Amino acid sequence: MTQSEEMSQLKQEALVDINEAQDEKALQDVKVKYLGKKGSVSGLMKHMKELSNEEKPAYGQKVNELRETIKSEIASRQEVLANEQLEAQLREEKIDVTLPSREISLGAKHPLTRTIEEIEDLFLGLGYEIVEGFEVEHDHYNFEALNLPKSHPARDMQDSFYITDEILMRTHTSPVQARTLEKRNGQGPVKIICPGKVYRRDSDDATHSHQFTQIEGLVVAENIRMSDLKGTLELLAKELFGADREIRLRPSYFPFTEPSVEVDVSCFKCKGEGCNVCKHTGWIEVLGSGMVHPNVLEMAGFDSEKYTGFAFGLGPDRIAMLKYGIEDIRHFYTNDMRFLEQFKSVEDRGEAEC
Ligand SMILES: [Zn+2]
Repeated sequence: MTQSEEMSQLKQEALVDINEAQDEKALQDVKVKYLGKKGSVSGLMKHMKELSNEEKPAYGQKVNELRETIKSEIASRQEVLANEQLEAQLREEKIDVTLPSREISLGAKHPLTRTIEEIEDLFLGLGYEIVEGFEVEHDHYNFEALNLPKSHPARDMQDSFYITDEILMRTHTSPVQARTLEKRNGQGPVKIICPGKVYRRDSDDATHSHQFTQIEGLVVAENIRMSDLKGTLELLAKELFGADREIRLRPSYFPFTEPSVEVDVSCFKCKGEGCNVCKHTGWIEVLGSGMVHPNVLEMAGFDSEKYTGFAFGLGPDRIAMLKYGIEDIRHFYTNDMRFLEQFKSVEDRGEAEC
């Protein structure tokens, strides 16, 4: 075989190999086979020594031309393979936009969130501000500023999660009141509600949870009287439990209010006849409240001769349990989907009525 025949045979073989390469890797192998350092084209150079000086340049040029031809054939094949791959991918990943979509499962508001928002809406309508505070609090704001000095029997260590001697998980939302009063620097009026989580060292059972929610309300202004408190709570009771609800106030004791009252609402289930919800009394205890203790006002820099106020604290957990007939407070915090899903239908019904 002449050198020229050998060269042309090599070219034919290379073209066949290139066209038969079905993927990137096979093509790479072909490239190494012909153009690599030990490849066939480089092998042609061994004939140089058999040639005369006159023949050498022409031969060298031909080998180079062959190398260039194979290189460009490989490049074109590479482009073809890339296009084929793209086409295949497009075919496989084709999206049929006419297919009906999968059902998207929408969540529902947590019953506590629903209850808190309902109460917030009422008070926003009455011109109150919503103020939030810290769940980790100083002893000072959680107790002392609320007329509960260190020696006070009402602040039993057993009831609180202390982090240090002076810092604890807040046991009520009242520290938000203390902080707000302090910030106002003796200037009324103050009209706020403070919703949030609170923590007590309680053993969890059907009616107790170490974490629960509270909404605190506070009004401090000139000429605020007990009748203002009663009117406000009547409105709240009607909003939460129905327009024909009544309330009654019973004397009680809280360190931060004087006088203090427990507030009962007439039973929404039996309308006062007596049933299991109201334990056959016709009344349900819903919250504690009272006139802000002069000491609390003075400690926050308010003139208790000029300003008076009322405060109340209610538990959205208890309210939601009553409203929705929930028997175990722990359901609110275990977040079992089967429990929460029930409130989706309540919400849907509510929207359908609108
Ligand atoms: Zn009843």
